[in-house]
Amino acid sequence: MSSPESLVSRVTGLFADLTGSAPEGVWSAPGRVNLIGEHTDYNDGLCLPIGLPQRTYVAATRRADRTLRVRSAQRQEVVEVPLADVAPGTPGGWAAYLAGVLWALAREGYDVPGLDVAVDSSVPVGAGLSSSAALECAVAAAVSDLAGLGLLGSDGGRAALARACIAAENTIAQAPTGGMDQSTAMLCRDRAALLLDCRSWRTRLVPFDLAAHGYALLVTDTRASHALVDGQYGSRRDQCRQAAAELGVSSLRELEPADLDATLALLSDDVLRRRVRHVVTEIERVRTAAAALEADDLAALGALFDASHDSMRVDYEISCLELDLATGTARAHGALGARMTGGGFGGSSIALVALDAVESTTNAIAEAFAARGLVAPVSFAVTAGGPARRDC
Ligand code: ADP
Ligand code: MG
Repeated sequence: MSSPESLVSRVTGLFADLTGSAPEGVWSAPGRVNLIGEHTDYNDGLCLPIGLPQRTYVAATRRADRTLRVRSAQRQEVVEVPLADVAPGTPGGWAAYLAGVLWALAREGYDVPGLDVAVDSSVPVGAGLSSSAALECAVAAAVSDLAGLGLLGSDGGRAALARACIAAENTIAQAPTGGMDQSTAMLCRDRAALLLDCRSWRTRLVPFDLAAHGYALLVTDTRASHALVDGQYGSRRDQCRQAAAELGVSSLRELEPADLDATLALLSDDVLRRRVRHVVTEIERVRTAAAALEADDLAALGALFDASHDSMRVDYEISCLELDLATGTARAHGALGARMTGGGFGGSSIALVALDAVESTTNAIAEAFAARGLVAPVSFAVTAGGPARRDC
């Protein structure tokens, strides 16, 4: 992975190519990996993400007119859009994630300037590691400073920026995601996981320093195709909404785990029963996982990873061959536990691996993929990184 210093200098160079001058500043925000608690955010539930060392950097300068001009090292084209034209579906494509943030902050009543922006990133794009929220949150951090909003200075201000980023993604980029990704990018901390309550938006930091216990979190980007904007994510959301309506609750969070069997018996359809069982048991697993981390019980955390993966594979039906192969291979090579992470249908998996087994597990996963003729996966160990910030 490129160092923060080299990414700052790369994005500054890209900005100079675009505008012929140096930027007013550089801001960055992390990708995230969710330790456990999948498809719980839009059910008002709990999740337990960490920020990644991989980050998206934006170099930005205010413009005299109300136009956004953007260029990304990960894309070919320069996109230019008048802020007045930003609306659901406009601009299309990747620039929506930037334009949407300006739109959402303007809608909140902030005086948002036009900007020139260059983007570069070490977050794999479309790998389920939330490159989209990293991009939005880096832009939001830039706007907060450049427009003098002062929102980076407090958790409350950061939560407000996260909400603007969620609105940008849902409304302008039209990807129906929950709020976990943006909240993580704004509020995560080094060497900590963020226990996030998506009903109250309250957060609690939980110690996450695996290396101190001889372990690593191995992320595998399976490179299997993953597009949140396709119908599957929306269909799971709809099924949860339908189940909540049948059960007469405002969200699946309201359901008591102890009454689960009786609750499931009230539902009309076996698919809904399985979806609800995943959500209710997964929220409970997040609680138990946070307690396991606080007690330094990594074996318990690993067992929860395995149970979570099974629940997503069987009940939520969002796993795929590559995710099952990466997690199964990690387990077979001694991982304490492994699970898919992110929205599903591809993307990434995580495994709790002894420090001295990182290399052999990485190789075993690569060999298992090669033996089946699959695209080579990319595995890397991660630690918990810090939130959106100004870099220079
Ligand atoms: P994920 O967030 O898991 O990486 P998404 O599908 O939610 O996957 O978001 C990926 C999309 O976000 C990309 O298709 C692109 O539109 C946009 N994006 C993310 N990072 C960048 C970047 N560095 N440059 C340009 N666009 C980006
Ligand atoms: Mg995303």
